[in-house]
Amino acid sequence: MTEQVYRELCETMAKRGGRYPGRDIPEFFDLVKVLFTPEEAAVSNAMPRGISTAAMVAEAMGKDEVEVAQTLEQMADKGLCFSIQQDGTRYYGGPPFVPGIFEYQFMRGTTTDRDRELARLIHAYKQALDAKVGIPKPSFPVERVITVDRKVKAGNKVHTYDQMAAYVEKYHPISVGTCYCRHEAKLLDEKDDCGMPNDVCMQFGTGARFMIERGISKQVSKEEALEVLRRSEEAGLVHCSTNTQEIDFVCNCCACHCVILKTALAQPKPGLAVNSGFQPAFDAELCVACETCVERCPADALVLGDDELPVVDLDRCIGCGVCATGCPSDAIEMMERPGIPVPPPDRKGLKAALKAAVK
Ligand code: SF4
Ligand code: SF4
Repeated sequence: MTEQVYRELCETMAKRGGRYPGRDIPEFFDLVKVLFTPEEAAVSNAMPRGISTAAMVAEAMGKDEVEVAQTLEQMADKGLCFSIQQDGTRYYGGPPFVPGIFEYQFMRGTTTDRDRELARLIHAYKQALDAKVGIPKPSFPVERVITVDRKVKAGNKVHTYDQMAAYVEKYHPISVGTCYCRHEAKLLDEKDDCGMPNDVCMQFGTGARFMIERGISKQVSKEEALEVLRRSEEAGLVHCSTNTQEIDFVCNCCACHCVILKTALAQPKPGLAVNSGFQPAFDAELCVACETCVERCPADALVLGDDELPVVDLDRCIGCGVCATGCPSDAIEMMERPGIPVPPPDRKGLKAALKAAVK
């Protein structure tokens, strides 16, 4: 019975999709037996697509509602399901591993024995799955970079979806948690620390409300959110999100640890995989050939040319603006880059774009 419930969980997690869906390999079962109790796995298997109440899940299982509600609450606290109160009713949803369950495990930034064990098991599962199926190459960009819009040259078109500050202004609440990727690395090996700020992982709206309620991340004011963004830009982190105009999170990513950026940069032409729609332009009068931009570029897209001015490889440049924020001479401005598709309005639009691109 216990083995069967985890077998069914494998099918459930396969159906939920995401970057690391369920897969019938030993590393999957090693992981889920620590993540989920058999009762939690059974509840997870009974959760319909979308959101549902405890009563709906209980009915699907033929079980007592109070008992199922208790398990769902326990799962929400553990980051195994999503939960939100709306118009007086409590709803639950079953997320995929990524984005979802994996991130929820480490965004509190705690370092318990269970955290370390989960980090080891999650890492083993990701490695085994990557080795088995390879890194996915979607037909249309699933994620995107958001540039540093204050560095865009005057006269260039900057859409609302290009502006981090516009998102901060628009969404409520906003929460900030520990970078899941850097924290996972540190749990695996204390010495694996790139020195980048960790408390910079930002969520917006409903997702933020859930994480604040469960103590996964902390609510911040708009001023605090802008300060997190400024700190990330100074450090050389890259704003990454889903390739949609409506977004519910922003990761401030390093190239050495973060899944979104690492996956994109592993492709032969990352400049086409996650591009912000901008590229750097260099002012020969102001440039002092210090090579700070070359060192800061997370995509290895820059070299100093023969005329002592940086040269950009557009196949690699993702348009992040990290070069521009670090230039001591203000010699770099970001310019519109033609040919980068406009982000679809929302997740539904992204799904349609992915479908259309494979035809
Ligand atoms: S950081 Fe600025 S000054 Fe230094 S090489 Fe790059 S563009 Fe030139
Ligand atoms: S050259 Fe490098 S740092 Fe500058 S925008 Fe492109 S990827 Fe970012």
